[in-house]
Amino acid sequence: MTAPDSIRAASCADDYDPNSMAVDKARGFIARFLVPVAETERVAVRAALGRVLAADVISPVDVPSHDNSAMDGYAARYANLEPPGDLKLKVIGSAFAGVPFRGEVKSGECVRIMTGGVIPDGADTIVMQEHAKAEDGWVTIGDGHKLGQHVRMAGEDLKNGQTALARGTWMRPAEVGLIASLGVGEVSVFRKLRVAFFSTGDELVSIGKPLGEGQIYDSNRYTLHAMLERLGCDILDMGVVRDDPALLEQAFKDAATKADVVITSGGVSVGEADFVKPLLDKLGEVVFWKIAMKPGRPLAYGRIGKAHFFGLPGNPVSVMVTFYQFVREALWTLTGRHPVPALPTFLVPCTSKLKKAPGRTEFQRGILTQDDTGLYSVRVTGEQGSGILRSMAEANCFIILPTDQGNVEPGALVQVQVMEGAV
Ligand code: AMP
Ligand code: MG
Repeated sequence: MTAPDSIRAASCADDYDPNSMAVDKARGFIARFLVPVAETERVAVRAALGRVLAADVISPVDVPSHDNSAMDGYAARYANLEPPGDLKLKVIGSAFAGVPFRGEVKSGECVRIMTGGVIPDGADTIVMQEHAKAEDGWVTIGDGHKLGQHVRMAGEDLKNGQTALARGTWMRPAEVGLIASLGVGEVSVFRKLRVAFFSTGDELVSIGKPLGEGQIYDSNRYTLHAMLERLGCDILDMGVVRDDPALLEQAFKDAATKADVVITSGGVSVGEADFVKPLLDKLGEVVFWKIAMKPGRPLAYGRIGKAHFFGLPGNPVSVMVTFYQFVREALWTLTGRHPVPALPTFLVPCTSKLKKAPGRTEFQRGILTQDDTGLYSVRVTGEQGSGILRSMAEANCFIILPTDQGNVEPGALVQVQVMEGAV
């Protein structure tokens, strides 16, 4: 479906209200438009950290490549260890990791072996050194052994030809190491997602300049930059654009030709100087303007040319909340990451009294802590105004209060969503 078609189809839904969309519905509408980047590039395995695999990584080898010992001890024939009872074996040599024993272990013999040493021919079982007593080239071994104990079999982790990692995997240190363990030096990843963003507002001043009367520093560009950086995007910071329709139009057009996604903050409410809505009606297609949520009610999503457009609210807390709740998941999907992990969400008792009006989803900022018995509880971070960025800095989770919920009494269970490490 092309974008305008799907917007039309979306708008035919019974409960489609672009001026007050429920949070889950809004996520669903956004998801319809998300087509992940297709272009790929090859990168060295170290450079793949934080990237998304564009093709399955197939193991070209068995891992481990040989049967080897999981313990320091003695490699022996299990047949010699039966029947149980004290037994003496002659030590005929040694096998270290990387330096195999070249002969064969025959009946009545064993080989001193270190962890990772290749199991010598003839041997099938490892006796831990703690269970053997060595003396003058012989070892005495007690009973209680099992056939094949402490032997790591070739191909036990991965077989030659087996898929080690699937397309869509987001590369963490574990995946980087796993690929290296296969002897693979390069992988195919999706190109980075290009995201352009700018702030709107005549009152905004960039860092380094003194504030005039009624002016504020532009913080949204910094939080946005930081959140986009954590998602591994290619970032295009277009600065502050004044509340001037001609400048805004130019900025939108420019951003949409350069990026996969355009994000703005401010100018989507209905203030007199807010020009974003009429401009977007002219330049693109808008799926919705407002969400039944707090903070973050004015939130626009649509398309400008081929680019996705997120018009975030101006208030600094609203920018972060809407990013966490909508933009994060959408951007991950566009990067080709699959599956996109949801932020961990669970129920805990809330020790604060919470004020909440039914009719919209609220994302209050919370501090989740653990007591000395290990139980978690959450409290709210004081004042919840959408301009109070300190509430985000103090918080480590959102307290999500569903649409129909009213006030919350202390001790009640609430849903929390952890934010740390997410964006
Ligand atoms: P707006 O949506 O443009 O009406 O902005 C809502 C509120 O957020 C106003 O108080 C703005 O001054 C403030 N605001 C808008 N953009 C930014 C920004 N980039 N940094 C900090 N505050 C902002
Ligand atoms: Mg504004």
